Amino acid sequence: METFPETAHPKRKLKNMKNHPKNRWQDSVAKTLDPVARLVYRSNLIGEDPTLTNTGGGNTSSKIAEKDPLTGSETEVLWVKGSGGDLRTAKRDGFSSLYMEKLKGLQKNYLGSKAKGPKTQIEDDMVGAYAHCTFNLNPRPSSIDTPLHGFVHARHVDHTHPNAAISLAACAKGKELTKEIYGDEVIWTEWQRPGFDLGLILEKLCKDHPKAKGAIMGQHGLINWHEDDKKCYELTLELVGRAAEAIEKKDRGEKTFGGEKYKSPAEKERKALWLSILPWLRGKVSAQQRMIGTVQEDATILRFVNSKDAPRLAEMGTSCPDHFLRTKIKPLYVAWDPTTGDVAKLRSLLEEGLEAYRADYKKYYEKCKRKDSPAMRDPNPTVVLIPGLGMVAWGKSKSESRVTAEFYNCAVEVMRGAEALGGYINLPQQEAFDIEYWQLEEAKLKRMPPEQELARQVIAVVGAGSGIGKETAHRLAKEGASIVCVDLNEKSAQETSAELVKKLGEGIGVAGTGISGCGPAIGLGANIVDRKSVAEMLGEAVYAYGGIDGVVVTAGIFVPPDLEGRIPDEKWAQTFAINVTGSYVVADEANKIFKAQGLPASLVLTTSVNAVVAKKGSLAYDTSKAAANHLVRELAIELSPLVRVNAVAPATVVQGSAMFPRDRVMASLAKYKIPFSEKEGDEELRTRLAEFYAKRTLTQSPITPADQAEAAFLLVSGKRFPRTTGQVIHVDGGLADGFLR
Ligand SMILES: [Zn+2]
Repeated sequence: METFPETAHPKRKLKNMKNHPKNRWQDSVAKTLDPVARLVYRSNLIGEDPTLTNTGGGNTSSKIAEKDPLTGSETEVLWVKGSGGDLRTAKRDGFSSLYMEKLKGLQKNYLGSKAKGPKTQIEDDMVGAYAHCTFNLNPRPSSIDTPLHGFVHARHVDHTHPNAAISLAACAKGKELTKEIYGDEVIWTEWQRPGFDLGLILEKLCKDHPKAKGAIMGQHGLINWHEDDKKCYELTLELVGRAAEAIEKKDRGEKTFGGEKYKSPAEKERKALWLSILPWLRGKVSAQQRMIGTVQEDATILRFVNSKDAPRLAEMGTSCPDHFLRTKIKPLYVAWDPTTGDVAKLRSLLEEGLEAYRADYKKYYEKCKRKDSPAMRDPNPTVVLIPGLGMVAWGKSKSESRVTAEFYNCAVEVMRGAEALGGYINLPQQEAFDIEYWQLEEAKLKRMPPEQELARQVIAVVGAGSGIGKETAHRLAKEGASIVCVDLNEKSAQETSAELVKKLGEGIGVAGTGISGCGPAIGLGANIVDRKSVAEMLGEAVYAYGGIDGVVVTAGIFVPPDLEGRIPDEKWAQTFAINVTGSYVVADEANKIFKAQGLPASLVLTTSVNAVVAKKGSLAYDTSKAAANHLVRELAIELSPLVRVNAVAPATVVQGSAMFPRDRVMASLAKYKIPFSEKEGDEELRTRLAEFYAKRTLTQSPITPADQAEAAFLLVSGKRFPRTTGQVIHVDGGLADGFLR
């Protein structure tokens, strides 16, 4: 139930995910740390272990004696993981700090209210009161779980969302099993929405059961406590381990989820099936707003979707409340038989399934809504399960879709455990609704900054390895797009994508098979004159993100004439192949994806001012660019109304351009009789030439890759020139010879 910044780097891998946690505490590290740093250390150890908690789930605390800046005397302070962020990546600033005395004092206020208890106004009001308890001006807002930590007497408290413990918590016999597994050490508590009252329940539990070390919180998770921080961590491991053992003892092996009903096609066929369905499906789930996808097709998820019980369990939905904020109350499962390989049938099943899902969601909203509930949100599913293929999860960004996928992976693991232990139960719909549409959650959503202009968009930049393409990739990423960096030189494409990922962070959420587990950018190699190579590249992009919304082509070639001013025939052909046919092939292949998605898309090509200026020394290049200009107009007609097609026409961009190698720069300087020395460096020579070119323009300033990237951004964005297509924009500093007429 947390929102968090997308900066984390997922170190955890779902591979080798077992339910038995490992003790990774190192005394040599811990002993060098102050008490708050020890809390951060403990939290990170818990967060890094997927058997202990999920992304953004759980929180930890320590009660620490601090010197009060107001009085100089010692006071007890609760340091507790604050609102937002993740245990794995939390640092000191991720924790809020509150005067224990003031926090405890809130009880009087709360208990004095006429209406109190879960879901009363005073409960939500208490969240605002935590700010008044802040110790030492700590700006981190307190989490809704703060009273859980404050009202448990012990010095150190861990609250986690381990799959094994949630299996118990979401099991029909959870209460009895808790007693059976833990005796009097861990006490069962019934489900209750987190808040002040749940804190009071835990306080009473501690009083009534002085020997208890922890509690299973029904349909939610685990909480445990200790006077010593290392022992608290070890207790967390031990309690989770005991739940995991109980599950393994009853594991149903072949009979898990009722046994296998469908068989998966081989990996290669599966991928082909995914590619034939993804852009179309993305278009459907993006009916209200665009979504980015993450595909998961590992053995664990395949076992689930292929099982006899999958339809029944999928319909029951996820249980842990912070799961279904992203996974929605339930996934969409379609009963497709993968052995038929019938894609048309799969499509019609998905189509029917989506319709029924949306209708169900509306029913759920209407049935559960309260007088002051926020308006109904997007009724499309965020998790789609297909027998034989696996799962695709959707989110507003790559990172968010990975979290969605991670949470459904957790849900599958929870269901496996709960089914083994005696039967999975879901949260009552009204409870689910009261979390999904909680005013506090709504307020959190409203506080989020507005989405970036290119958020939810996947844009391929062909030629991203250098020059204008690289600059464009950076420019579009800055506006929130997920970027597919493409270049003939695969390594350079990957370098650009690595730069972007470094700048933006991988995001959060640990899920995704192969390249679908990627971050906000990927780097791919492709030869644009080879249709198969282009199709494969676009396929990888679709598998990584679910679809594509725009393509910018900056790849091009300039072959200078030989000493006699001639261009060999093969160089002429190569110039046309890359500058004209290449753009056409990319457009034609991308259009297949655009059409399948049915969402407005945009294509931006790169031509040249030379296309309209006849001159000596660049015969092949200039005529190829003239053809490219007309290609823009033809494509604009062919691809309308769904796709806008425009072009940027640069002139004499020297800086960082692969088209201006040292030899060409020197040849040009000599041609224009500009003095230079061979001893000068590349950049000096380029600057000299760029300055000369600048003087010939009306604006008198050098033309940079950033100028071109800006124009490419304006054209590719659907918001700037939404009604412009078939146009070529000159970005040339103003060359009167190049004026279009
Ligand atoms: Zn929790």
